[in-house]
Amino acid sequence: MTAALSPEHRAASVARMAGERFDIVVVGGGVTGTGAALDAATRGLRVALVEVTDYAAGASSKSSKLIHGGLRYLEMLDFGLVREALTERALLLTRLAPHLVRPVPFLWPLTHRVWERPYVGAGLLLYDTMGGRRAVPRARHLSRTGALRLAPALRPDALVGGVQFYDAQEDDARMVACLARTAAAHGTAMATNVRMDGLLTRSGRVSGIRASDLLTGTDLEIGAGHVVLATGAWTGGPGIRVRPSKGVHIVVPRDRIAMEAGLLTRTEKSVLFVIPWGEHWLIGDTDTEWPYDPALPAASRSDIDYLLAKVNHMLREPLTADDIEGVFAGLRPLVAAGPDAGQHGVGQHGVSQHGASQHGADTTKLSREHSVGSPVPGLSVIAGGKYTTYRVMARDLIDAAVRDLAAGRGPTAGRGHAGGRGHAGGRGQGGAIPASRTDRVPLAGADGFAALWASREQIADSAGLPTTQIERLLGRYGSDVSDLLELIASRPALREPIPGSGPYLGAEIVYACTHEGAVRLDDVLSRRTRITIETRDRGAAAAPHAAALMAPELGWDAARTAAELGRYRELIAADLAAEAMPDDLGAYQAKAGVKQPGLA
Ligand SMILES: Cc1cc2nc3c(=O)[nH]c(=O)nc-3n(C[C@H](O)[C@H](O)[C@H](O)COP(=O)(O)OP(=O)(O)OC[C@H]3O[C@@H](n4cnc5c(N)ncnc54)[C@H](O)[C@@H]3O)c2cc1C
Repeated sequence: MTAALSPEHRAASVARMAGERFDIVVVGGGVTGTGAALDAATRGLRVALVEVTDYAAGASSKSSKLIHGGLRYLEMLDFGLVREALTERALLLTRLAPHLVRPVPFLWPLTHRVWERPYVGAGLLLYDTMGGRRAVPRARHLSRTGALRLAPALRPDALVGGVQFYDAQEDDARMVACLARTAAAHGTAMATNVRMDGLLTRSGRVSGIRASDLLTGTDLEIGAGHVVLATGAWTGGPGIRVRPSKGVHIVVPRDRIAMEAGLLTRTEKSVLFVIPWGEHWLIGDTDTEWPYDPALPAASRSDIDYLLAKVNHMLREPLTADDIEGVFAGLRPLVAAGPDAGQHGVGQHGVSQHGASQHGADTTKLSREHSVGSPVPGLSVIAGGKYTTYRVMARDLIDAAVRDLAAGRGPTAGRGHAGGRGHAGGRGQGGAIPASRTDRVPLAGADGFAALWASREQIADSAGLPTTQIERLLGRYGSDVSDLLELIASRPALREPIPGSGPYLGAEIVYACTHEGAVRLDDVLSRRTRITIETRDRGAAAAPHAAALMAPELGWDAARTAAELGRYRELIAADLAAEAMPDDLGAYQAKAGVKQPGLA
């Protein structure tokens, strides 16, 4: 099922938010929030979602873009977490998002003789057999010559052999846009550029949120039986404390590193990934505490130098700063240890505690599991977790909300009681609220994808586009590619790539506005497309062309178009200024001049 997240859909959603009372209001439009909205809506609940900036504007567009079990966690003997993640990986690859998620090969270079091969080999064997078998090819051992054949870019003395294994990857921001569209197709009222300003309470329970529509300047009161906070690194308060950990990636051209597989190698504290990404490589990442504004994670020169030094340690031909095309920084919303965490809310009110917090100053040691808390009746909060397991996180969060609704205080609940096995709560006369069913709900574009992929050459012929373009489009839109091709057929000028953008077609810019909820230039250049991180000028040349296509779709006049362009230029100038700073404080101060609108 697919819905168009058009400007009209946004306006209708905001009108519904002002007038309707919902079962659940979700705050935050990252992978967790959009996943939670989909989970709740597919249980038959009335759902609204508000996101202050854009879908995936937080960590969910800044990740390593891997759907992975996490080999690292295997080493920490966290088998449960790995098994769960591998099961989700298989589900995404085969049923939920086969158009967006694909297997990706990695080389694990071995650097120690004798002990390392059996150790790594045993881990990868476990990885291959623990969850979702056969969703990706199995690992295979390589001699040094075999490893160098796969990765001629590596220094021969940097390895004694290797193991090739598979994980999966996706475009994180696109997947969130697809989740949002799928949630909307199931009736969710949803809007970006709407900020939650506070909670409404009645008789000792949370009864909704106060919010502002940042596009119109209107204040809203959105009534709900239960509010869930999926605000990532922004999450605070007595229930759960989040300890943001910054991760930085750099992007370099594909032809600068001769490898047919990605690379995963150990660093002193963590791991280094070199991940194939279209015509580029993503190299990441770092893991350091970020004590500043969560809206403004910034990469510093030290982060970039660190990544270059780590990767150059392995390469015959070192990379330099001149090779860098893009940089991005995001914050992992790790569950913090501390006096608050676990005391007031985590595990209370019958809510699951899926993950445990750990003490210590080093964020690499904090758990990647998630915690759901219900600090007060009518409110649930989630923190931690990772992209790969978003569906499990969403399910646990909505289970908590449903239990609270079923306790008899929500608008549609209270006439029944919690159901037995297979039911997460009661719904009174309407029957029990069913358990999560998102393991059977394919995301927008998944249905029919396999057949279209098989006939991609014929599609290319009839559309008059190269097969490589159709393959790229199918990997971004799945079966919704037919919408895009219809658009091109009716407006042939949109078949041309946007100057300065790489492969992105004019039609993709228009479609982002008419179907994918983009309302600002940055939404299109940074998230619906990845022009901001894939072009050396950070999208500066593409920006006016994209803005010209967006303006008629979004009703921008000349002044608004110029303002969007000006704001985008400021954003990229601030990023570049931050990247020249030696440390986090300098990078933060450089970026602080330009804030996302509305974030306190
Ligand atoms: C560098 C890095 C690499 C990673 N790599 C991987 C990986 O390869 N694989 C993996 O599985 N995971 C990875 N992760 C983890 C993963 O990205 C995150 O766990 C996940 O994206 C978190 O999603 P979220 O929805 O919880 O938070 P976010 O995506 O941060 O979403 C929170 C949203 O809440 C909104 N918000 C905040 N306050 C308000 C308010 N008052 N009103 C309305 N909206 C509000 C924000 O604007 C934001 O969009 C990585 C993370 C980082 C930082």
